[in-house]
Amino acid sequence: VPVDPFDLVVFGATGDLARRKLIPALYHRMHDGQMPEDARIVGVARAQLDAEGYRRMAEAALDEFGGEDARDAEMRRKFLATIDYVPLDVMEEAGWSRLKDALPTACGDRPRAFYLSVAPRFFGPIAEGVHAAGLTDANSRIVIEKPLGHDLASAAALNGVFAGHFSEHQIFRIDHYLGKETVQNLMALRFANAFFEPLWNARHIDHVQITVAEKVGVEGRGPYYDGIGAMRDMVQNHLLQLLCLVAMEPPSQFEPDAVRDEKLKVLRALAPLTRLEDVVRGQYAAGPGMPSYVEDANAPTSRTETFIALKAEVANWRWAGVPFYLRTGKRMKSRVSEVAVVFKSAPHSIFPAASGRAAQNVLALRLQPDEAITLGMTIKEPGPGGMRLAPAVLDMTFADTLGASNMRMPDAYERLVMDVIRGDQTLFMRGDEVEAAWAWVDAITARVDGERPELYEPGSAGPDDALMLMHRDGRRWRELA
Ligand code: NAD
Repeated sequence: VPVDPFDLVVFGATGDLARRKLIPALYHRMHDGQMPEDARIVGVARAQLDAEGYRRMAEAALDEFGGEDARDAEMRRKFLATIDYVPLDVMEEAGWSRLKDALPTACGDRPRAFYLSVAPRFFGPIAEGVHAAGLTDANSRIVIEKPLGHDLASAAALNGVFAGHFSEHQIFRIDHYLGKETVQNLMALRFANAFFEPLWNARHIDHVQITVAEKVGVEGRGPYYDGIGAMRDMVQNHLLQLLCLVAMEPPSQFEPDAVRDEKLKVLRALAPLTRLEDVVRGQYAAGPGMPSYVEDANAPTSRTETFIALKAEVANWRWAGVPFYLRTGKRMKSRVSEVAVVFKSAPHSIFPAASGRAAQNVLALRLQPDEAITLGMTIKEPGPGGMRLAPAVLDMTFADTLGASNMRMPDAYERLVMDVIRGDQTLFMRGDEVEAAWAWVDAITARVDGERPELYEPGSAGPDDALMLMHRDGRRWRELA
């Protein structure tokens, strides 16, 4: 469905996020007929470019990150014609008049979004600047992305900065995991099918595993990452958001505040982690031809964790006693993001031992490397060999389904940017959610920050203690394929 004509002002338009994600996402939305030709994109950054110079940068971004569809010359011409550029150092008052010149003062009936693709220290000055320049009204929105603070106090302060100039319904806090097809599909699976929800509780679910494993190290991000670590960089936002969608009660409607109210209740029901053995922090060591974290970050005495595993519990009626095991790390064996819901075994086996063992049912939602939903089951091995049990997987890999209909898998940012224009906040975090997540995280970091993390081999599944975290409970992590 096409959106109404809009103005999108991208602060940090020459940066990595804008070139790698935003420009290609907007192009695809136009290519698929959703972004109208009279929409306007205004790039803002410090670089002294003119509009033509920035369009050349946007073209290069399409060449590099736009895929097959970006080769359509006519579509490119139309898309580039929507782009303007304003050189502006947001810390200097002088430049703001140039942005005023590029935009009509009132939004009118065109939604106007300010996308802050810049470091967080610029969030306040930009919120202030667009307001002081008289560029905001009831039809404007502001879009921000992690890091949304580094603890509860800083997150609350940030919420306060935006609240000074925008109402909550104008503030779009992106967690791009929520824009992924599989993650939205988790809600469709749970709430549009009859047979999952009756089983979706402590009586039938043994445990939940949430994994976000990366192969890369911190690379050039060392100075940013050091002192932040995996808990603040990944668990506070992405992993807890995934946990919320698994654990939340059915909202009464698929409507922004109904969904976010339910997520907030989950965050508030997270039991404080009281046992230190339920938190495992790791840091990658050097490997053959690969520097260690402390070398990568150039911080020889750093105790920042590049891996963390946690055993969490949602202390409410539905989930009491069901562990949610979370893990995320860098320089691991493979790049995998997935949520696995592991069901309890059948209560009694009627088959003789020689039939083999029935595996637990596992509903796995994979976000990376390719999006898929699989359901692990046990079936009879086909053939005349008698009753032998064998594992089987129901595979709903999107690439296969979409491939059959020749569709492209849209990137999360495509969906999210269009939702901003439509004013739909369902897939965005509300300020109180961000604060509730920090409150839980802060209580843990207060106890473990500064402890020496366990070194782990690059290319492994993390430190041994992370394996023990589950072995102690008679369970094991899923393989990092
Ligand atoms: P970047 O360093 O590549 O780009 C920063 C942009 O900000 C540049 O366009 C630069 O010109 C502009 N800028 C810097 N100082 C300015 C000033 N004084 N006035 C006006 N513009 C100024 O950063 P990035 O990787 O694009 O990330 C932007 C933000 O998004 C960061 O907060 C980052 O944490 C967050 N983020 C990035 C990614 C990603 O994939 N790159 C993912 C999630 C979140």
